[in-house]
Amino acid sequence: MNHIRAIGFDLFNTLITADPKTLNEAMSRLIHSLQESGLKLGNESFKEAHHKAAVQFVEKARRDGRETHNRFWISAALHTQGYNVPPDDPRIAAAVDAYFSAFFHNCYLIPGTKEMLGALKDLYRLGLLTNFTHAPAAREIIDRVELTPYFDVVLISGELGFRKPHPLVFRKLIERLGVEKNQILYVGDDPGPDITGAQRAGLQPVWTTYIRDNNLPFVPGVLSRVEEEPDVKVLRISTWKDLLSLLDKA
Ligand SMILES: [Mg+2]
Repeated sequence: MNHIRAIGFDLFNTLITADPKTLNEAMSRLIHSLQESGLKLGNESFKEAHHKAAVQFVEKARRDGRETHNRFWISAALHTQGYNVPPDDPRIAAAVDAYFSAFFHNCYLIPGTKEMLGALKDLYRLGLLTNFTHAPAAREIIDRVELTPYFDVVLISGELGFRKPHPLVFRKLIERLGVEKNQILYVGDDPGPDITGAQRAGLQPVWTTYIRDNNLPFVPGVLSRVEEEPDVKVLRISTWKDLLSLLDKA
C-alpha cells in the first residue's frame, strides 16, 4: 500500500450512521411543513403516495446514474392528492428542509472515526464522496458530526448531478484529490455504488462491513437494502484498526 497517496470515503454506513427512527421523524416533519403551508393532507394517504413516488424517482436515478431530488417526488405525491404544486415551489423547498432537519440530531459517528481520520490526515489527501440528493443537508450533517476539518475534498452527488457508481463522480474525486487514480483507496459499504463504482473508475476499493458485522440497521434509504456482496474480490475491513493495518499505519 506504499503507492497510496489519497483516501476517499463514503459517508452513510461508512463514517456515520443514523438512528433508525430518523426516517419516520423526517416524514412527520415533511408532512407537518406542508400542512403548515396550507395544504390539507391525510397523513397516511400522503405518506403512501410519497413513498411510491420516491421509489420511482430513485430507481430511475439508479438506472441512469443521474441524481434526483426530493422536490420532484414531493411534487408528484402532492399531485396524487389533488394539488398542483411544481417542484420549485417554496412550499416544497420548506418541506425538504423540514424533512432533512430530522437528520441533524440523529446522525452519529462510527466509533473511532475521528481518531482514524486524525491519524491519516497529515499522511494522505482525504476526500468524502457521498450519494445524497439534497446537498445543503449533507454538508450540515458533515459539519454537525465535526468531520468537515478532516477533508481536503467533499463531493455530494446532489451537487455533481450524477451519483455513484457513475464514473463521472469518481473522475471528479480523482481530479480534486490531485493524484493518480491508482494512488487512491476508496472506502465504502455499498457493493454497487462504492465497490464496483470505485473499481471501474480505476481506484482501489475497500469494503467496510462494520454496520453489517454489528447488525446495525442501514439508514437512510428510500429503497430497502438487499444483502448483496461485491461481485469483485475486494479488500474488506470491519474496524478502523483494520484500515490502519492495511495501510501499515497501525
Ligand atoms: Mg454508504
